[in-house]
Amino acid sequence: MKDKIVFATGNEGKMREVRAILADLGLEILSMKEAGASLDIVEDGTTFAENALIKARAVHEATGALVLADDSGLEVDYMGGEPGVYSARWMGEDTPYTIKNQAILDRLAGVPDPERGARFRCVIAAVFPDGSEAVTEGVIEGIIGHESLGEGGFGYDPIFFLPERGMSTAQLSPEEKNAVSHRGRALEAMKPLIQKWKGEHQ
Ligand code: IMP
Repeated sequence: MKDKIVFATGNEGKMREVRAILADLGLEILSMKEAGASLDIVEDGTTFAENALIKARAVHEATGALVLADDSGLEVDYMGGEPGVYSARWMGEDTPYTIKNQAILDRLAGVPDPERGARFRCVIAAVFPDGSEAVTEGVIEGIIGHESLGEGGFGYDPIFFLPERGMSTAQLSPEEKNAVSHRGRALEAMKPLIQKWKGEHQ
């Protein structure tokens, strides 16, 4: 597992983003499945950081590798910060995002833009091979749009609108999204900690 990082997710959309963002580390990034650790992890934390650490610790125990995990979600101000830490499970894990996104659009129907504030938040947890831990966070601010726009990204991207770009995060190219996204920012903050650890242990 030397020169490898295991990223604790089963979400292919996330794996694509993470591989691109971490490419310049020059390390192989394996999914849980590729690392032979297809665990069913119960994310019962009440914060993004707790859930990220639960996932990273479980996969570290199974593999002994340098493990990264993220926990992320959409916080909608008008909905008191929901779905937040429950973003994946909100309205049911298997409910298609076309339906979840429409439900949020309906909930905010007629609400003026200044009250449509929302953000994606991402916490990355690292467990290093010696068991030491680190946590970083990234945020991207936007508003809930007035319709679903774009085919890129995944999840809530089509309704997450960036007023300064005039488009949703589903309309950004993968490179553009990674450069500004919550996950991109949290992973960029984690990179120097990984480089430092590698420098001290090789
Ligand atoms: P997690 O896999 O437990 O971190 O759940 C994250 C959930 O938050 C995803 O399943 C999506 O619903 C939502 N989410 C997180 N990041 C994004 C993003 O970049 N775009 C769209 N939805 C996201």
